[in-house]
Amino acid sequence: MRVFVAIVLVSLTWLTACQENRETTRTVEMYNSSDDMIGTANLTEADAGVNVKLKLEGLEPGYHGIHIHEYPKCDAPDFKTAGNHLNPTGDQHGLMHPEGAHLGDLPNIEADADGLVDAELMLPEATLLDGKKSLLDGEGTSLVITEGQDDGVSQPGGDSGARIACGLIAKDEKKTTETPTDPTNFNEEQEE
Ligand SMILES: [Zn+2]
Repeated sequence: MRVFVAIVLVSLTWLTACQENRETTRTVEMYNSSDDMIGTANLTEADAGVNVKLKLEGLEPGYHGIHIHEYPKCDAPDFKTAGNHLNPTGDQHGLMHPEGAHLGDLPNIEADADGLVDAELMLPEATLLDGKKSLLDGEGTSLVITEGQDDGVSQPGGDSGARIACGLIAKDEKKTTETPTDPTNFNEEQEE
């Protein structure tokens, strides 16, 4: 038994070390329909997909659906501008659907009696790097939480109710706070 435990510990250490070497991470700020920030989602590129670490507050206790949506637009109060669930492969909605799931489908999260969520989820097959299954493909995407829980099979969104919180996963997030590039420098770079 001790040998087994030792092997598990060594494996965990090794896995942690590998993940730390990855530089692709993104912090998503989540806002409710009153435009109040309710917490963050930390996205990290991993071998198995994208790891989503959630720290949220102010939610109704109980289960809520959570999904990646196709547009980086979080217009309160209904967040409909985020579009549908991210689905670049044309699959059906739902983690329990035989022809599912959308790339952006995540397991439900549970807020405790104080309305807090501290959870770690995985988006298998997704990436933060380039490609068709990238969360940053095009202009980017968004992360949306719903009032009710996702039943895992109903089309198109798991019958999970109204959208209550949203966070941008925008491709050009950093550029918006930077001063514009000097046009002269830009031209020189172009000629290389
Ligand atoms: Zn879906």
